[in-house]
Amino acid sequence: MSTFQELGLNDDLLRAITDLGFTEPSEVQNKAIPILLNSETDLVALAQTGTGKTAAFGFPMLEKIDVDSRTTQGLILSPTRELCLQIANEMKAYGKYCKGLNVVAVYGGSSISDQARDIKRGAQIIVATPGRMKDMINRRMVDISKIQYSVLDEADEMLNMGFKEDITDILSHTPEDKNTWLFSATMPREVASIAKKFMNNPQEITVGNKNESTSNVSHEYYLVNARDRYNALKRLADANPDIFSVVFCRTKRDTQKVAEQLIEDGYNAGALHGDLSQNQRDLVMNAFRKNQIQMLVATDVAARGIDVDDITHVINYQLPDEIETYTHRSGRTGRAGKTGVSMVIVSKSEVRKIKSIERIIKRQFDKKDIPDGMEICE
Ligand code: ADP
Ligand code: MG
Repeated sequence: MSTFQELGLNDDLLRAITDLGFTEPSEVQNKAIPILLNSETDLVALAQTGTGKTAAFGFPMLEKIDVDSRTTQGLILSPTRELCLQIANEMKAYGKYCKGLNVVAVYGGSSISDQARDIKRGAQIIVATPGRMKDMINRRMVDISKIQYSVLDEADEMLNMGFKEDITDILSHTPEDKNTWLFSATMPREVASIAKKFMNNPQEITVGNKNESTSNVSHEYYLVNARDRYNALKRLADANPDIFSVVFCRTKRDTQKVAEQLIEDGYNAGALHGDLSQNQRDLVMNAFRKNQIQMLVATDVAARGIDVDDITHVINYQLPDEIETYTHRSGRTGRAGKTGVSMVIVSKSEVRKIKSIERIIKRQFDKKDIPDGMEICE
């Protein structure tokens, strides 16, 4: 393993890296940064969630763009609003000593004219959701004809969410000779086809086994009667008073219902799903980030890619429809070398799904019993 200095990053970035407390590059950073810094190439990088992909493309992009120019040179597409904001904030933190740097996040649910104004002031880097980006292009609010570096982050998820046409359309407004860097946790056929379509002899890197979830996460399941699901959740919370967790539900309705019920029962909870206004989503995310909320009840789409430090537990209140989604959920904990627990509450009719998940994550679940009242009351 090399140091960040040995990877060839400049002093402004190295200072920011020291401030952030990153002591050494992660594996994906170690592999991607030298390639992106030292050559003008397309890249396909496969790495599971929590491995540090943002910096793997962020550092090279910051190194390569010209901050003395006000032209938009870098475009990062990412699937959700929360992720856009998160990436933009990371980029600002990485680039805090790059004088003149402007990073603008562009996403639905907040003022398009404010975003257009911020871009006009001279944004070298735009971080955008495909929907809003396409909207801005159609309204001629943005010029991406000088883009030199484009990133497709969480490419598998963007395609899952049906953004293929928007992405195609957006990239058609960028120069032929730009470089495209695609980052994804998995490589389904759709991603391979988009790579083929938009990329020119891409270099490829893979980190770890693409379906294996991080080994510092332990997996547990709790078999309950379907009607006891909610009580089981409360018991788990009671048994872990310092819990800081994301609780996944299958639908927006259940998400709202479970969060409201928890709050009513005196728990420190909040809801995150797509039926809330952007303002409500930002408020709840900020409160969660500041540890003011202990249990964030969320849908998969809303929680995708969210990087909040020190999440102790992921609770699958309901299993996802697509088993692969389990990997993304459990990846919310055990980040940056920390340990975490991913818990599943299952009823008898779904318990066979545990076996399928074990095959996919190549890890065994521990079957546990819901702690009983006595234990909780001491
Ligand atoms: P991914 O996009 O692969 O899911 P992120 O880029 O969101 O991962 O990074 C996960 C977490 O790890 C973030 O909190 C980030 O600040 C932290 N991180 C990234 N690189 C390093 C590093 N080299 N050393 C320590 N922490 C890091
Ligand atoms: Mg990421």
